[in-house]
Amino acid sequence: MPKILVTGGAGYIGSITAHHLLRSGYEVVVADDLSRGYRHNVAPERLHVVRLQDTDGLTRLLEGIDAVVHFAAYIAVGESTREPELYFSNNIGGTLSLLEAMARAGVLRLVFSSTAAVYGDPQKVPIPEDAPFAPLSPYGESKAIIERILGELDRYRGLRSVALRYFNACGAEPEAGLGEEHQPETHLIPLLLRAATSGQPIQIFGNDYPTPDGTCIRDYIHVRDLALAHVAALEHLMAGGGSDAFNVGTGAGHSVMEVLRAVEEETARKVPFTSAPRREGDSPILVADSRKLQRRLGWRPQRSELRQIVQDAWRFELH
Ligand code: UDP
Repeated sequence: MPKILVTGGAGYIGSITAHHLLRSGYEVVVADDLSRGYRHNVAPERLHVVRLQDTDGLTRLLEGIDAVVHFAAYIAVGESTREPELYFSNNIGGTLSLLEAMARAGVLRLVFSSTAAVYGDPQKVPIPEDAPFAPLSPYGESKAIIERILGELDRYRGLRSVALRYFNACGAEPEAGLGEEHQPETHLIPLLLRAATSGQPIQIFGNDYPTPDGTCIRDYIHVRDLALAHVAALEHLMAGGGSDAFNVGTGAGHSVMEVLRAVEEETARKVPFTSAPRREGDSPILVADSRKLQRRLGWRPQRSELRQIVQDAWRFELH
């Protein structure tokens, strides 16, 4: 079976994807510096604690590897606006080091974690993959830059890559003990669940957006569906498929207030909230046109109904 290096495999989406790669029969090696991921998310025999900037260390780890699934990156939009250098050095510098190590080791297949944030505030919704890049934050910019570099490396190095542009990853794999544990948490669903249990109000950022209830609309994709998109992308590359980029979302949008109501129903508790000003960098509506992924790779969202997402996230919080 092919042997896959998963960078950032101790993080939220990385660990759940590693779990599904193993279930699909792949051999998995994880590289993670544990700066934002957790040791408990990876079996000790698979975990290699290494920084992306350690090109020599990565080169050694890449021996005998057939493909890389590259998650390791910082992901907080707000933090990236306060510390852009940190984002450029980790997300761009770290990835360049990995790409250098891959070139040295002769590994020519890569699945890359990109983001809907590359589109910024898109003209057309649902967003197709050929919408222009117009990121609103250093985080989004760091991912857009790497996607462009991957295009060059396809041309000049024969590196075949698939960029997956995630919409709002959420949910969990409670049976596997894997789920969202960001420090500090900034994502909507875990914060709503905490407000439901603690009674401390959550701030709702903006109630005057041009949407039916005035709150932002997002495309929430269950992390299992997202993980399985990586498995499909990898299969495409292993079968000799060419470089490409795909949106990973459901095509359906939910407002912040709709998600809040779903959390109230699932937990049978009130979610206290206060209205706060808009958050910098938030687009009013981000919904994926994911038909390309469905058509080309035969992927379908299977667990991304909002109630199911909230149920799995809640079970993980309770575990
Ligand atoms: N949001 C909110 N309060 C919070 C966290 C998030 O109102 O405490 C809103 C946020 O403004 C956005 C949506 O929830 O409209 C999803 O935000 P999240 O940070 O989960 O994901 P993003 O869309 O930024 O990737």
